[in-house]
Amino acid sequence: MTGSATFQPRVALVTGTTSGIGEAVVRHFCEQGHQVLAVDFNPAGAEVAERAGAVFFRADLTDGEACKAAVAEAIRRFGRVDILVNNAGIQHVSPIEEFPEAKWRQIIDLMLTAPFLLTQAAWPSMRENGWGRVINIASVHAQVASPGKSAYISAKHGMIGLTKTAALEGGAQGITANAICPAYVKTPLVDNQIADQAKMHGMEEQAVIEQIMLKNAAVKRLIEPAEVAELVAYLASDSAGAVTGSSWNIDLGWTAQ
Ligand code: NAD
Repeated sequence: MTGSATFQPRVALVTGTTSGIGEAVVRHFCEQGHQVLAVDFNPAGAEVAERAGAVFFRADLTDGEACKAAVAEAIRRFGRVDILVNNAGIQHVSPIEEFPEAKWRQIIDLMLTAPFLLTQAAWPSMRENGWGRVINIASVHAQVASPGKSAYISAKHGMIGLTKTAALEGGAQGITANAICPAYVKTPLVDNQIADQAKMHGMEEQAVIEQIMLKNAAVKRLIEPAEVAELVAYLASDSAGAVTGSSWNIDLGWTAQ
């Protein structure tokens, strides 16, 4: 089906759903009428998911077996997986010289290996149904770098490679894969960075937002999680069947220069 297709309820697996972008995506999908498995390692995610009308599955996605178990749970509950949103992420800021190896491994495991394993596990269900959507929440840091974020930036750049490969392999099977690259979104992940950077630079938090975070932005404000969720919903829709292998900037004009 092409063009403005009528809405069809789907089964979605979304990761990193206790707060921020993932929470907004789950809420939006549930409001649309999709069935959603919300996957997070934080037990507080159970209440967040229930409030939205989703089913919660607790999993630490740095563990490969937990990634496979999450997909198995979606199939056990709902019979299939149509939409996979790889969103769970963390940040750690320190120069390469001091970057802890354990932190590097944790970030790569969570933000690159888990999306790969989840895609791999969900693939047979999407292939059998001839329809699938893989949506990877990357970052403006999938395209440009900043000092102090080597693991995050490496994982996000890698995620673009994974997205393109999945798009090429999925094309003949009705599976699309796309990445979304936001600049700073108003979430706990960013709140923590504002506090850390204020301490690191000896600045007021508002000054960190204005002088560091929004320095390269044409639109001088933080992005709302719901704005990212709207883009996810488009890429997950039937209308986006011709869109694959692409990276969607929602970055306030950050990368325009
Ligand atoms: P957030 O901290 O609000 O949410 C991250 C979620 O991931 C949380 O629910 C957390 O519990 C979960 N999580 C962390 N470690 C996990 C693990 N081991 N297993 C399972 N779940 C785990 O952050 P957010 O800002 O909403 O970030 C969501 C995604 O968006 C991340 O991939 C992030 O890199 C990306 N992103 C965020 C921004 C931003 O400015 N906030 C910008 C670009 C990209």
